[in-house]
Amino acid sequence: MDSFLPNYNDPIVSILLLLGIIFIVSVLSYAYSIWKQEQRAKELLGFLKNFDSKECALDTENMKFEKSMKKPLFLLAIAYQKSGEYSKSINLYLYLLKHTKDSSILNNLAMAYFKAGFLQRALDIYLEIISKNPRNIEVLYQIEFIYEKLSNFKNALDAIEVLEAQGESVDALKVNLKNQEIDRSFISREDKFIQIAELVKSNKEYAPFLIRKLFKLNPKEAWSYYKSEYFDILIDILDKLKKENIDLDIISKNIQLEQLFYINGLIDNCDKISANYALNILCSSKKCGVDSGRLKFLYLCSKCKNSYPLPFTRCPNCHRVFSSKIEVTVGKKEEKTDYSLQ
Ligand SMILES: [Zn+2]
Repeated sequence: MDSFLPNYNDPIVSILLLLGIIFIVSVLSYAYSIWKQEQRAKELLGFLKNFDSKECALDTENMKFEKSMKKPLFLLAIAYQKSGEYSKSINLYLYLLKHTKDSSILNNLAMAYFKAGFLQRALDIYLEIISKNPRNIEVLYQIEFIYEKLSNFKNALDAIEVLEAQGESVDALKVNLKNQEIDRSFISREDKFIQIAELVKSNKEYAPFLIRKLFKLNPKEAWSYYKSEYFDILIDILDKLKKENIDLDIISKNIQLEQLFYINGLIDNCDKISANYALNILCSSKKCGVDSGRLKFLYLCSKCKNSYPLPFTRCPNCHRVFSSKIEVTVGKKEEKTDYSLQ
C-alpha cells in the first residue's frame, strides 16, 4: 500500500512539491495583477466620465483607435497644448485615456485643463493622481498652486505641509501664501499694510518682494521698511512714485534713489554716479539738456530664465514664487497724447 503513496523523504518529491507551490503562487499572482489592472482601468474610465468632452473642438466620437496611433496622437496633443489650443489637446488626451487606459496621460490632461483655466477640473485630476501616488512632488506643487488660485488657503497650506514632510524647501511658498491671503482678504488698506508689515519683519529673506505691496498701499509709511539693498527689486515701483510720496532724508543717503528721482523731475539736482548704467546714462543726458529718455523694465525669472513685460509674484511659466529679477534698460520717453473718444 505504501508503495502507491509518495515518499515525502524522497528529495525528488520534495522538489516537485516546491515547484508545484511556486507554479500555483505565480499563477495566482499573475491573475491578481491582471485583475488589479482591470480594476484600475475601470476606475479610470469611471473617473473620466466626470469630464465630458462635448465642448471640445475635435470630433473623436467616431474615430477608430489603433495601438499605433497612440504616440502620434499624444505628440499632436502636446503640440496643440504648446500652441495654446487647449480644447483640442484636452479632446485628444481624453480620447487616448479612454482607449489606452494609460493613467500616465492624466498628468498631461490636468495641465491642459489648468492652462485652459478649468482649475477645478485640473485639481480633481491632480487629486486623483496623488491618491494613487502620494509622493508625487510635482503634482503636490500643482495642487498647492491651484488651491492658492482658488483662495482655498487652508488646503493650500495642507499641501505645503505635505511637501515639507517630504523634505522640500517651502519657506517661500508659506510666505507667499500668507501674503496672498492678506492681499485677498476683505479688510481695510490700513489693516492690510499692518499685516504685511508684520510679515516683512518675520521674513527678512523675502522682505523686498513684500515691500512692493507696502509701497502700493501706503508709500509714505513704506519708506520705514526700505533698505538700499532692496533698490533693484523695487526700482519699477519707486519709478512711479509721486513727489508727495518721496522721503528726502532717505534719498540723500542713497545715490541710486537720488538719480532716479532727479531723472523723474522729483528733485532738482544730482551730481553723483552710481553702479547703475541706465541711471548714469539718463542722469548725464538730462544734465546736458536731453530729457527724452526713460527707464524701461523687463521681468526675468531667475529659475526658468523666461522674461515678461509685466511684474509677477509667481513665474507664469515655472510657477516659482519670488523668482522675479528686474532688468533695467533705457528707452524713449513716451509722448503724452491728448486723444479723446468724444
Ligand atoms: Zn520661471
